[in-house]
Amino acid sequence: MDTPLNLVNVTLEYPDGDSTLKALDQVSLALGAGDFLALVGPSGSGKSSVLAVSAALLRPTSGTVAIDGQEVTALRDAELTSLRREKIGIIFQQPNLLPSLTAAEQLLLADHLRGKPLPAARKRAAELLDVVGLGTVGDKRPHQLSGGQRQRVNIARALMGRPKVLLVDEPTAALDHERSAGIVRLLREVTDEFNVATVMVTHDTEFVPLTDAVATMRDGRISALHPSGGVPSRASS
Ligand code: ADP
Ligand code: MG
Repeated sequence: MDTPLNLVNVTLEYPDGDSTLKALDQVSLALGAGDFLALVGPSGSGKSSVLAVSAALLRPTSGTVAIDGQEVTALRDAELTSLRREKIGIIFQQPNLLPSLTAAEQLLLADHLRGKPLPAARKRAAELLDVVGLGTVGDKRPHQLSGGQRQRVNIARALMGRPKVLLVDEPTAALDHERSAGIVRLLREVTDEFNVATVMVTHDTEFVPLTDAVATMRDGRISALHPSGGVPSRASS
């Protein structure tokens, strides 16, 4: 089976004075291509830590993380960096765009860093800006765009490298209700269209029906995992 993201018994400890703090405690999670998972739970319950180990930004203290079938713990740092570049798209709350670059250039830069040729990147960037509804504003710089539009640039940029896994941390925290709904709908669309495995940390349980499943975290553990009751065709898979 196609499993872009597979966490098995992942424990993550941070040093905490003389002892350690267990941010993740035996977390297991498997996502197939096209799966959209909402990750909810109180502040400090470990949601961002799940994203950090899933992005291969942190190695787990124990347990295994596999991205597109590659076991992360077996890789050296340089290999981890290229795995992250090739397979993972990351979207944080604040888009973190470069102020001097246009929307299209933000996307081109991402591909340039991957060593991709410019003509192909231009074509891909134009297509992705269309997908996220920004076809007419590719030449605008971040300050000329709304908060919702900046987050759309962020999403398009994360898709440039054709990732297998999309990791999204509180994408709507800085947006009003209508724009938030638009962003989550867009994440649903790109998850389907590009067949990525998407994990979205969110406070907005209102948007959970747009996802396939919801995992609730508590004290570093997944305390509940169930279909979100959203899209029926996926809720049963
Ligand atoms: P959430 O995203 O659900 O708010 P986090 O994954 O950020 O939770 O944090 C889980 C636990 O790990 C919390 O107790 C937090 O204080 C701790 N933690 C997170 N990052 C670090 C860090 N870099 N160093 C030490 N402790 C951390
Ligand atoms: Mg967090």
